[in-house]
Amino acid sequence: MNEVKRWKLQCEGKEIVSILNAKKYNALYVDNLEQAKEKVLELIPKGSSIALGGSVTLNEMDLVNTFREGDYNFYDRYQDLPFPEIVEIMRQSMVADYLVTSTNAITRKGELVNMDCSGNRAAGMIFGPKKVIVIAGANKIVENLEEAEKRIKRVAIMNAKRINHKTPCVETGFCQDCSVPGRVCNYLSVVNNGGKFEGRFTVIVVGDEVGY
Ligand code: SF4
Repeated sequence: MNEVKRWKLQCEGKEIVSILNAKKYNALYVDNLEQAKEKVLELIPKGSSIALGGSVTLNEMDLVNTFREGDYNFYDRYQDLPFPEIVEIMRQSMVADYLVTSTNAITRKGELVNMDCSGNRAAGMIFGPKKVIVIAGANKIVENLEEAEKRIKRVAIMNAKRINHKTPCVETGFCQDCSVPGRVCNYLSVVNNGGKFEGRFTVIVVGDEVGY
């Protein structure tokens, strides 16, 4: 990435960490995904049960393989299994010790905004897993909820393409507010404040362009 662009993302990432800490998340800043991964592994004790939210950011960190191969109880919904079995793993993962996820947008008011296909990530961020670790690039920072929704819709189209869902947007590149079975935009969630259960949320902000 262009150095000036990276510098600006670093500035924005550091600023949002202050905003998030004021909103009662445990937020911290890192420069890159390698450092983010080190922090995640520091935070999660061996033997913990772990759920992952679907995410390009987490894919870039290779966390599926790390948790498969490590000394963890990993709710592995990335196996090649029939969909009802995957849904069962998603249900069980609602009581994981840790949910590790990214987020679709962070507003400058300290809100975490997400759009889900199945709802497991949005639901788990709100309640269920004992702790939630969010990893997000500074490219996901937006001004407000309105901008977050616009960002999310743009990202949803790319996610539909990435996971090969049969949706109209994958044909055209634009949202048509579809009602097909593969629709990826089914559940919109907003976390307004991280303080309800003290220490539950850790947000690792990466001063770089990460994920969509
Ligand atoms: S509502 Fe349908 S068409 Fe629009 S972005 Fe979501 S999946 Fe694509």
